[in-house]
Amino acid sequence: MSVPLDGNAIAGALGELFAVDVSVARLECGGCGMEGVVAEVVVYIDAPGVVARCRACDNVLFRLVRAPDRAWLDLRGVAYLRLRTTST
Ligand SMILES: [Zn+2]
Repeated sequence: MSVPLDGNAIAGALGELFAVDVSVARLECGGCGMEGVVAEVVVYIDAPGVVARCRACDNVLFRLVRAPDRAWLDLRGVAYLRLRTTST
């Protein structure tokens, strides 16, 4: 049986794709509307890829699959992902 982790478990993998700390990014679940931060999602890392689910409704928020030279990030379960950027 797969043991879920929290969103901090995927901070490194997502950090390779985004040049910001994604674990503190805010998101809204496309299933139930819950708002929170990536670090609070429920993460399964022993699937064929990484699967992140909503802590409130179990909706699949996003999937991440890696190959040596590319990554597939499916964010269809997220209504929005708000990333902090540096001010200009
Ligand atoms: Zn939800």
